[in-house]
Amino acid sequence: MEKLKDLLNQMTLEEKAKLCSGQDFWNTNAIERLGIPSIMMTDGPHGIRKQAGNADHLGINKSIPSTCFPTAAGVACSWDKDLINKLGAAIGEEAQAEGVSIVLGPGANIKRSPLCGRNFEYFSEDPYLSSKLATSFIKGVQSQGVGTSLKHFAVNNQEYKRMSIDAKVDERTLREIYLASFENAVKEGKPWSVMAAYNKVNGAFCSENKKLLTDILKDEWGFDGLVVTDWGGVNELDDGIKAGLELEMPTSNGLGEKKIIEAVRTGKLSIEKLDQTVERILRIIFKAVENKQENTSYSIKEHHKIAREVASESMVLLKNEDQILPIDTGKSITVIGAFAKNPRFQGGGSSHINPTKVDDIFEEIQSFASSTKLLYAEGYSLDNDEVNDQLIKEATEMAKETEIAVIFAGLPDRYESEGFDRKHIRMPENHRVLIEEVAKVQSNIVVVLSNGAPIEMPWLDKVKAVLEGYLGGQALGGAIADLLFGHANPSGKLAETFPEKLIHNPSYLYFPGDGETVEYHEGVFVGYRHYDTRDVEPLFPFGYGLSYTNFEYSDIQISKKEIEDTDFLTVTVRVKNTGSRDGKEVVQLYVKDIESTIPRPEKELKGFEKVFLHVGEEKVVTFQLEKRAFAYYNAKLKDWHVESGAFDILIGSSSRKILQRESVYVHSTKVIQKVLTRHSTFGELMEHPIGGKIMKAMQSQAGQQYDDDHGLGAGMQEMILGTTLHNACVMSNGVFTEEMLDGILQAVNSSK
Ligand code: BGC
Repeated sequence: MEKLKDLLNQMTLEEKAKLCSGQDFWNTNAIERLGIPSIMMTDGPHGIRKQAGNADHLGINKSIPSTCFPTAAGVACSWDKDLINKLGAAIGEEAQAEGVSIVLGPGANIKRSPLCGRNFEYFSEDPYLSSKLATSFIKGVQSQGVGTSLKHFAVNNQEYKRMSIDAKVDERTLREIYLASFENAVKEGKPWSVMAAYNKVNGAFCSENKKLLTDILKDEWGFDGLVVTDWGGVNELDDGIKAGLELEMPTSNGLGEKKIIEAVRTGKLSIEKLDQTVERILRIIFKAVENKQENTSYSIKEHHKIAREVASESMVLLKNEDQILPIDTGKSITVIGAFAKNPRFQGGGSSHINPTKVDDIFEEIQSFASSTKLLYAEGYSLDNDEVNDQLIKEATEMAKETEIAVIFAGLPDRYESEGFDRKHIRMPENHRVLIEEVAKVQSNIVVVLSNGAPIEMPWLDKVKAVLEGYLGGQALGGAIADLLFGHANPSGKLAETFPEKLIHNPSYLYFPGDGETVEYHEGVFVGYRHYDTRDVEPLFPFGYGLSYTNFEYSDIQISKKEIEDTDFLTVTVRVKNTGSRDGKEVVQLYVKDIESTIPRPEKELKGFEKVFLHVGEEKVVTFQLEKRAFAYYNAKLKDWHVESGAFDILIGSSSRKILQRESVYVHSTKVIQKVLTRHSTFGELMEHPIGGKIMKAMQSQAGQQYDDDHGLGAGMQEMILGTTLHNACVMSNGVFTEEMLDGILQAVNSSK
């Protein structure tokens, strides 16, 4: 600390300004005179993209080889905090070996629409899941003495006009969904850095958004690292710094520095503010220096193994009719689809990795299969969507010859990437037609999908099994073979809803906006919060995934039947493996507010645990719930608030399969007292603790009762309670005077 202050005192204005801007594409500026070194940051987040030659932020030019792990969309389906920590640690190790100080990731943006081209880089539609997994990733990377840059803060949920769009979100939605996805990751994960998104939020660019960067991120959440712009995402650097930004990346070739110097000279930016900014940058630079290990290396082989483990834990078994999977190794198989030999294993754009090796899926299948009949048909061209009759004919001819057909299909690179959104959620025609044509000659079809985001599956009832592989990283082939032949038992669960049709998605009418603004009219009803509340049947629900074994849930227990919102509630449930294979289950806990004065989702995820169970084994899974599990964000209070009342604790194996439930009564410790006015209603007056008493006294004085005893129907009651106090004065013919009203308001509003 002292050292940093000392350095700061020695720095000239020019040097301070220089430190707030990049030296080149990936390095910060050094101030050699004072022994301040530059540090390197690179993408992220599915491996290290360190470019030795020409630099770019679009994934165009080559980077040095590193392990390409499955992308976040898949990784999230593992729901496994420890595994993601291990994955992070492996990435951290590679960063250390390459002299990289900060890895640009993870991405914690919410999957608002399945169309967002970058959904493959994000974890979930649910902020609780997303934030917990981002936390594990950050802790894993940082355990290796390498920093992370949590991105893209915030409300960056589409690629269309990503650099200029203004996302209009109401405060409650912002807090409960879009910021909540970052909150735990910041508070518990403690990333060294946070990356401001390109877009605007409610009128201000994220890199100049004081509310986001200073009021919330730093003051409320206690973030003590540095905020960096997304690459080139700076509007006016001096305005950014005033708002809470520290560093612009990459270099702006002196432009940013000039602006800072001018702003300080003209008094637009105070030197104190600039000093605080520079001190934060220095703190991270020296943290990186202290944590740097010389001459480290990592095992390419070991990391490939980790990539395989992560991939097999992440893939989701969506369908398995007649227990067609796992495949007996002696069965004859036709492997169909160009993806089997040229797999799609990662997404396009800045996260694009140059892998150390890539599994050939067909070869991996070959290494398990003992049948002499293992055929391969290309099925479709990778270059276009055209249905090729000849390729389909070859595939159907071969499929007829074997007991099973395994079809590899999904979305080619051209369908989804950073930089653009999808227009629909269909797969290419040549993939769809291939599946449908093979289904005409072969009833035992297994479809293995490679895609970064949900697709429609009009062919679903024509195939027996579907394995959702997402973008499985460089070791996807081994992982797929492990799962197909039962060497591994599927344990992935969807971290997002697969809608039956795009039009069912809640953001459908409002995505991607008019080019200038995008309005988040669906509010908090994102993903399953919408599907479950409106009872829209999805193709596959949030949290869903099959296993080769079965689990039984029993004996839910809660520590108390009634709590205050400041108490903890412990929930336990027993889970048993009742099937014939060892396996893992993701136990999910949702909370439902039974009665609420504000619209709330049908249920919200508030806990999850992944447990491994041997055949016949039973474990008790424990959850701890605190206030936030029951709260909504009250924009007027500017705080989280719990309404007193009963809540259901739901435990299940997906958002749609609730297997155990209990109920708890939560007493709020914060009673919201409304300020009443002449335009408040009788109902509001009655609900007020003092107002209610006054009204009752007045009624009994007047010998009146506005309740059911009086013989008024419920509708009439409601009408009376809905009458404004002012209107009552006007209409009461002098019985209820203005003076009486003023007296009541005075008494009510001055009460504590
Ligand atoms: C992306 C970031 C990335 C940066 C550097 C930007 O285009 O949005 O996610 O970290 O480039 O490559």
